[in-house]
Amino acid sequence: MSVLSKHIARLIKETGPMPVSHFMALALGHPKHGYYMTRDPLGAAGDFTTAPEISQMFGELIGLWIAETWMAQGSPTKFVLAELGPGRGTLMADALRALRAVPGLLPALDLHFVETSPVLAAIQKQNVPNATWHDRFDTLPEGPLYVIANEFFDALPIRQFVRTKQGWCERYVMLSESSTEDEPRFEPAIMPVPQASNDILAAGQRNAPIGSLAEVSPASAAFAEDIALRISKHGGAALIIDYGHTKSAAGETLQALRAHEFVNVFENPGEADLTAHVDFEALAIAAKAGGVAAHGPIEQGTFLRALGIDERATTLKAKATPDQTRDIDSAEQRLTSREEMGSLFKVLALTPLGAPTPAGFEV
Ligand code: SAH
Repeated sequence: MSVLSKHIARLIKETGPMPVSHFMALALGHPKHGYYMTRDPLGAAGDFTTAPEISQMFGELIGLWIAETWMAQGSPTKFVLAELGPGRGTLMADALRALRAVPGLLPALDLHFVETSPVLAAIQKQNVPNATWHDRFDTLPEGPLYVIANEFFDALPIRQFVRTKQGWCERYVMLSESSTEDEPRFEPAIMPVPQASNDILAAGQRNAPIGSLAEVSPASAAFAEDIALRISKHGGAALIIDYGHTKSAAGETLQALRAHEFVNVFENPGEADLTAHVDFEALAIAAKAGGVAAHGPIEQGTFLRALGIDERATTLKAKATPDQTRDIDSAEQRLTSREEMGSLFKVLALTPLGAPTPAGFEV
């Protein structure tokens, strides 16, 4: 039984059922017992594996994307490079290695990480010592801003709504009948009172049939708009990579992953990774409201191929042992093939209005 379960059970007893978004925010981000606060979840020994942990090529190609975007905007002599939720710092370490080859770039770069997990921040510090850490986005310094976010938005809280005959009703988490003091158990329930207005839902969700479940992430939209406001004011770009869908639609995607297996979302909060598919249409709309141009989303496989993953793999294989060659081929396959990450994962770029289309997004 997780410590957080007892805390959440007490909260529900004292203040009543909580929205799914609140449950998710506590499960992942409770300052002491939240999932990300207490562990390194990445890799074979953890709960899930991400693209930068699969191959150095991923971070290297993103490094080159940053360099091209920076040059396309006149190579500003001072800029902030910020990564949101950098995990182990692997992506950035690989990107920085690629950026060393770009004249004038590293001296102009001021590196910042936005990270709430003390455990992961400590690992990041070992892999990338020269960053400045923030636990919020708004404390980043002003100036041209290049933002990288890989598998960050899927961890931001979502709200869930179910369409009933009466209208769209929010889903809450309550204590189940079998719950006890020592073994709290939770289950979802639909609030009987529908939303007064459907504005919170995307246009592509509102008319889904009765019984449908729809997810929205106001936290993600707010983040996208904050990023956009900075880029529209000072220049820069954002690259958002995650698994999700191109168009807003109804459907349940909230999931819990523990030791690479799916588990019950409402069981043992704080012990499993909770994520939801990213709604890229909603992100793009929020970003445009912040005054930037949105490019894509395109599929990760398409993006990596356009940036030259084949050529990079060939270069690496030229100096590789047969075992390493096999690893490079299989990593490229995992990152780009439609059956693996290539198609489920999408890439969205944001640039100032009027700036050149960033690398990989020219159709
Ligand atoms: N980008 C990394 C890690 C992805 S896991 C990779 O691709 O390997 C999600 C990351 O986001 C973790 O570093 C986690 O601690 C961080 N994170 C989750 N919610 C956050 C929040 N609200 N603010 C800042 N960081 C957050």
